Amino acid sequence: MPSVLAAILVAGALTGLADTVLTLAGSPDPGLVTYKLSYVFGPILLALVWAAPIGAVAAELCRRRTRRVAAVAAGFIQAVWAASLLVDGWRAGQSPFALIVLAGVLGIAAVAFTRLAVDAATWLATRAPAVRAGVTLAAAAALLCGVLAGTPRGTSGFGGGGGPCAGSRTASPRQSVLLITVDALRADVAREMRAYRRLADRGVAFTQHVTASPWTLPSVASLLTGRAPDDHGAGASLSSRSLVLRTPMRRDVPTLAGLLGTHGLRTHAVVTNPFLTARYGIDRGFCTFENVSMESEAARALGQTTLLRLARAFAAGWLPSDRAREIRARAERWLDRHGNRPFFLWLHFLDPHAPYGDRDGASTSLVLDLMAFQHAGATGTPFRGVALARAGEYRPGPEERRRIRALYREDVDSVDREVGALLDWMDARGLTPRTAIVLTADHGEEFWDHGGLEHGRTLYEEVLRVPLVVAAQGQKPATRGDLTTVLDVAPTLLALAGTDPHGLPGADLLDPRAAGTRVLPLGQTLFGEDWSGCRAASWKYARSESGEERVYDLDQDPGERRNVAALAPGWRTGSCPTRPKSGS
Ligand SMILES: [Zn+2]
Repeated sequence: MPSVLAAILVAGALTGLADTVLTLAGSPDPGLVTYKLSYVFGPILLALVWAAPIGAVAAELCRRRTRRVAAVAAGFIQAVWAASLLVDGWRAGQSPFALIVLAGVLGIAAVAFTRLAVDAATWLATRAPAVRAGVTLAAAAALLCGVLAGTPRGTSGFGGGGGPCAGSRTASPRQSVLLITVDALRADVAREMRAYRRLADRGVAFTQHVTASPWTLPSVASLLTGRAPDDHGAGASLSSRSLVLRTPMRRDVPTLAGLLGTHGLRTHAVVTNPFLTARYGIDRGFCTFENVSMESEAARALGQTTLLRLARAFAAGWLPSDRAREIRARAERWLDRHGNRPFFLWLHFLDPHAPYGDRDGASTSLVLDLMAFQHAGATGTPFRGVALARAGEYRPGPEERRRIRALYREDVDSVDREVGALLDWMDARGLTPRTAIVLTADHGEEFWDHGGLEHGRTLYEEVLRVPLVVAAQGQKPATRGDLTTVLDVAPTLLALAGTDPHGLPGADLLDPRAAGTRVLPLGQTLFGEDWSGCRAASWKYARSESGEERVYDLDQDPGERRNVAALAPGWRTGSCPTRPKSGS
């Protein structure tokens, strides 16, 4: 007779193992060994957590009716596992045909797993007691060690900080500063946001504002230090096999948060995006720091498990979220406690970042994706095929492109709503008159402007042009069309708080004496070939690591359609400081 408990545990572990395969397949870039271990052992541990009680209940219910208790308990566990995958597929908007095929495949797998669990339990029951104890102990020890080894890195990204916390002060800040950054927000789309217009109505909007790099880490590091990527060092690749193995910010570079903290402002950050963590030095200088994405990433990392699939279907509100609503709620909680004294609060919203149309607790139906049931997508279904589109394996037609753009706009709308609600809340609390509010983005987003989707691959305007609006006390509303760059934001914020820009290369944008033509070094792409170059007011120069050169006359050709590098080889000499790349 097989042991019922052994059959339950083996059945649970088998569903966990299947979910481990799905988890690894859905997370192609775990990067660190500790992440990989979490992905391997996490699903098995979670499977045992739900399978043991459910199997025990099933065994108890059937004990009087049948003698095949072990088979019924194991079969029940497999049925729950298969049902969770079907529910996930149904929620992802899959067609009835795809669901029927999936049900067939899962049915066969469930029967096979049940048989395997009962056979393993029978085999174990016929062994000597010492062998049984040895096998049990070895399995428990392997699971425990795997979980422990995978845990430490998993939680280190949640917080950070440790900068000056504004105790006794000699300096007196002129006003508080609220810096709002939105991930992947195109400048043209930003200008249609109600929150943008509301700030622009009483502040200065900069319509030719560019960032130095087309992806989050180097660009945000430039924003927070006032220095170009080659100077702060964040974002260079450390491994050709992993996107996340990147250099952190150099420790000797002063940060905006550190300078403002020393000047007497209480500093805090509520951010999203796994690149904005202590691991990359982004928290440096802040008194306190929370990365909300890392909490929901932990849930997302285990998203291909039975418990998480069922939670998404029936209790999505309980799952950790890094959506705009959560960021606003945390910002208000923090301002409630610290808003009565001068502060620097940085909020980063991730919602418009791909995949588009994501909602709280949302995740993909990976089984169906793996089985290549790529559906055209009903209205409102998120678009997750970014990796395929990036690789050129998915070429959507005009209708699907429109749908994808609309999902992105919905994501921007949800940030717009929450930022608007936060501004209302600050008005009601009387915080607005003594706070300089700045809205900008880490980079833009391409929607086939030059054939591609998303960002990180090119240095075209759709990814480098970002919104910037500064609304501070005593300002006259204005629109500025001269070239301004990410390097100017830190000096501007330092000046707004009433402190010195500390010899930063950028200019205080609100100082009328500080205008002038400048050249911004560009670089640090995320995917594909590395590109670097520079951007001036009316032209751009870019050079790939293989030596391809592109020059665009932005006055004559703002869409960057005509590469004039061959026509004007002298453009870059003298005007573009071609800098040797530091790091790799
Ligand atoms: Zn970004």
